[in-house]
Order: sequence, then C-alpha cells, then structure tokens
Amino acid sequence: MSFEKLNLIEPILRALKTEGYVKPTPIQEESIPILLKGRDLLGCAQTGTGKTAAFAIPIIQILCGEQPPQGGGHRPIKALILTPTRELAVQIKESFAAYGKHTGLRGTVVYGGVSQHAQTEALKKGVDILIATPGRLLDLMNQRFVHLEHVKIFVLDEADRMLDMGFINDVKKVIAKLPTKRQTLFFSATMPPVILKLANSILHEPVRVEVTPQSSTVDIIQQSLYYVAKNDKKSLLMHLLKDKAIESALVFTRTKHGADKIVRELVKSGVKALAIHGNKSQNARQNALNDFKSRKTRVLVATDIAARGIDVDNLSHVINFELPNVPETYVHRIGRTGRAGESGVAISFCDAEEKAYLKDIQKLISKAIPVVEEHPYPMSHTVMAAPEPDKRKKSFKKPHSNSSHSHSKKSSSSAGGGGGKKWWGKKQ
Ligand code: AMP
Repeated sequence: MSFEKLNLIEPILRALKTEGYVKPTPIQEESIPILLKGRDLLGCAQTGTGKTAAFAIPIIQILCGEQPPQGGGHRPIKALILTPTRELAVQIKESFAAYGKHTGLRGTVVYGGVSQHAQTEALKKGVDILIATPGRLLDLMNQRFVHLEHVKIFVLDEADRMLDMGFINDVKKVIAKLPTKRQTLFFSATMPPVILKLANSILHEPVRVEVTPQSSTVDIIQQSLYYVAKNDKKSLLMHLLKDKAIESALVFTRTKHGADKIVRELVKSGVKALAIHGNKSQNARQNALNDFKSRKTRVLVATDIAARGIDVDNLSHVINFELPNVPETYVHRIGRTGRAGESGVAISFCDAEEKAYLKDIQKLISKAIPVVEEHPYPMSHTVMAAPEPDKRKKSFKKPHSNSSHSHSKKSSSSAGGGGGKKWWGKKQ
C-alpha cells in the first residue's frame, strides 16, 4: 500500500516524500480513508505507531477542501487537537507544519508554563488548526482569545494520559464549548472504563481502530538487563557510557531529584548531559530537547511524564536507571528508541528492590530480558535470580465491544512472530 492509493492530494504527497515516508503505517492505512469519509474514530494506539500523521494528514486534506474565508476575513479555528503535554503539543504542531507545508493552512500551538503573548499574537492573526494542552487552552478561552464555535474536527489525543495527569475535567470543559456537529477523533493507548465512558459520550458511531505496537516494539528492540546494587548504578552508567557506540541515550529515572543528581554526576565526569522534568521551565525543557536532538547533548535524563511523547529520530539507546513500577511504562519508555522500524537498544538496571517490577514487566512482554552477567558491578545470583516470565500472553486492555464498527487489526505483529520485520518505510 502506498500513500498514492489513499487518494491524498498532491501537496500532501509531495510533503510526505520530503519527509522520507515511503508507505503508510498500519494505523495510517486504516484511519486515513475512514477519516476522509468524515467518520468519527476511536483509536487504541500509542505514540510510535505513526498516529500523529494518521490524524494530521486527513485533517489537512479535509480543511484544504473547505472554502477560504471571503474577502480575506478572519480565519476561524476549524480543527482543534488537545494533547496532554507541551512536548507532545510541539511535536504535533511540527507534524502539521511538515505535512501541510504546501497547502497554505495555518496552525499554532498553545501550552502553559510560558508567557501567553506570542501565542495570543499568533491567534489574533487567525489559524485553521490549533494544537493545545487543556489548561492553557481554557485560560485563553476564558480571556476570549480562542473561540471554538467553527471547529469542525476535534482530536482528543492520549486520553488515558489526560486522566493520569488530572486533566479530565479541563478536557470536559473544553468539549462542552465545541459545536455538537463535528467530527471527533479519540486516541488512547489503553481503554480503562472511565476513558471508554468518555469516548462513548463524545463520539458518534465511531469506527474503531486498534494497533498494538507493544509486542512489535518489544521485538525489534535489543533489550538487556543488568543486576546492580542501588549504590552502584551511577558507576555502572558511567562505565557503559565509556562505549562510544552509545551516541545518544535517554536515561529514565523515577524522580526529578534523581534526574538532577545523575546529570550532576555525568557532567562532573565530562559527559554532556541535561535533565528534562516538570520542575524545569518550558524553555529549559525545550532547549534541553533541542540540544539532545541536535546531538549537542549526549545524554538526556528524564522522568516519565516529561519524556512522554519525546520523539527523537535515530535515538540509539534508552537506559532505565530505575525500573518503572507500572509495567506498561517500560514499553512506553523503550518505545522511544526503535522508532519507525529502526532497531534500538534498551538497557535496564535492576536492584534488589525492583525485582517485583521486573517480574511484572516480563509478564507483560511475555519474555525474559536477557541478563548481562559480565560487568564490573555484579550482584550475587542468590539475591537476584531472574524471575520466570509468565507464559500467558498479556497485552494492554482492549476496549469492550460496543456498537461501533471494528476495524481491529494487530499491527505487524508482531503477532505473527514477524519479529524485526519492517512494516513502514524508513525515514531518510
Ligand atoms: P507518532 O506515532 O505519531 O509519534 O510517530 C512516530 C514516528 O514515526 C515519528 O518520528 C514520525 O515522523 C514517524 N512516521 C510516521 N509515519 C511514518 C511513515 N509512514 N513512514 C515513516 N515514518 C513515519
């Protein structure tokens, strides 16, 4: 399947070519035709599946078919994308800008933690597409800088994260201001009952699309596990970073404080490192991310929330300095590498207290992470015998069946043991 077969307009096809996209990902292949028909969509998918382009491309195409404002009048917002984090919002804006660059459509992004001036100036000029985090959007709506009465397409992105981060009430307030006649797209990596209830309350006869990238992601990423005492983790990290093959590494910690401590140690020993977490200003976070993307910084140390949605092309290594206590987070974290069919490396440290977390992770991914025995800071085997993974295949919760039409399809899979099979074109 090629993008041409999806009946996309020439300016979009040209932009996709520049991006180096050769063929649509499974979620794009399924969602684009449905969305071009004007249907609502319930997407069970997470970042790393090509989800952003799956909604951005049809939105651009639909808006290109709209009448331009008469006499060059004010451009009302016609598409609204709500997403939980500032980093994700910026990335979505960049995607719209890339795919829509030959169309003349205008988009902007609003998020909190920075002065609103530049954002209100952009809004005053008129935008077709607005990408926003919920808090700042409500704020700007209350100040009457944002009017939603002309919105035709609404995207709720990462709904489960919205819930985790306590944004659901803000999201509901925004939805209450949208026109009832609209096209709605709802994305969530998991579908707990409260999320499904919200989906059912805002979608109209949605088509359901599911892609489960977790097993394919897990299969193409080279994973390894180091048993190490808590106090030796920093030394082990320094030791691993001596390997120049680690060109760029995203290191995960559980706490903001922990992230800062690691950065201090790394910088002391001459490794270029920066931290990215919620205590940093938006500008500091964006600068850290830019420096990491441009390879000025070799190591980015991040907490889970701050790292959510980080999309860095060619990220070679993810290092779990601490194992997450929620097993799905492990999959989210290692999914930062191995993007778009690339293989990546994920290294995890596990101390005595994290053994239970490891057990849950191995249960979820249905395999034992290979253990590296030979390293300078080993722990005794009696303390750290590897737990057996549960043989049962367990995956993310799926939505309960409802009246929606299901176009459920397991991505690549993955499933079929297709292991490292590349299922989308490689970015240049
Ligand atoms: P997303 O799931 O939207 O976060 O996208 C994950 C990554 O895949 C991003 O770096 C995109 O630029 C890339 N990507 C999206 N669609 C394609 C495609 N059809 N071919 C190659 N790369 C893609």
